[in-house]
Amino acid sequence: MLIDTHAHLNFSDFDSDRDQIIQKCLDNNIWIINVGTDLESSRKAIEIAQKGVYASVGLHPLNEEMFDIKSLAQLDSVVAIGEAGLDYYKRPKNKTKRKEFEDKQKSVFLTQASIASDLDLPMIIHCRYAHQDMVSMLDGLKGVIHCFTGNVDELEQYLDLGFYIGFNGIIFKLNLDDVILKTPIDKILIETDCPYLNPDLTANRNDPTNLIKVAKRIAEIKNIELDLLLEKTSKNAKSLFKFNPFAK
Ligand SMILES: [Zn+2]
Repeated sequence: MLIDTHAHLNFSDFDSDRDQIIQKCLDNNIWIINVGTDLESSRKAIEIAQKGVYASVGLHPLNEEMFDIKSLAQLDSVVAIGEAGLDYYKRPKNKTKRKEFEDKQKSVFLTQASIASDLDLPMIIHCRYAHQDMVSMLDGLKGVIHCFTGNVDELEQYLDLGFYIGFNGIIFKLNLDDVILKTPIDKILIETDCPYLNPDLTANRNDPTNLIKVAKRIAEIKNIELDLLLEKTSKNAKSLFKFNPFAK
């Protein structure tokens, strides 16, 4: 079995063939967590949930409008809060504006972190160019650093905090071999971040059926059997997200 721990089949990119893709995944024993980035996509993730297809609800750091995450997060299909996090890639150059930009993101993240703590849910974290600020806010939380592209130092800080590390098709674009080698197999989650980051760099829309390519590449880099990687990463996902109580 494979579990795509970060997909966006809830996005409009999949409006024309969403049901077929979900069915194809379930037929091939691929489970999916569809991740919300705002109210609309969080609602959609819940709407399309079923056994094997789960939802995460949250506000992406580059989206503005807060919503009642806590109410949605209490629904049975919801296994995590996110994606939430920090994204400083496009931060303003002006010092005062930059501080405002960063403070706003931190406060929105902390709001979501407190909901995750209250409901005992893991967080799906998006972090770009902001690892030091992120690390300083993670005490007492659990979750995954999705689409990790940081360095080995940053990796070790997240591992020390007990976090899982999510890898996707970006490993075909950036050389993350060192980081992959240093991430223990019992801390790795695999994901697609579809419709983005197709492992085939010339192709367009990504979907969870490409997850196996990410898994194969990680197994190759770590020089382990693919079956072992699949078994461990599925076990990791099940233990972090619990898939509970919806799966019963
Ligand atoms: Zn995403």
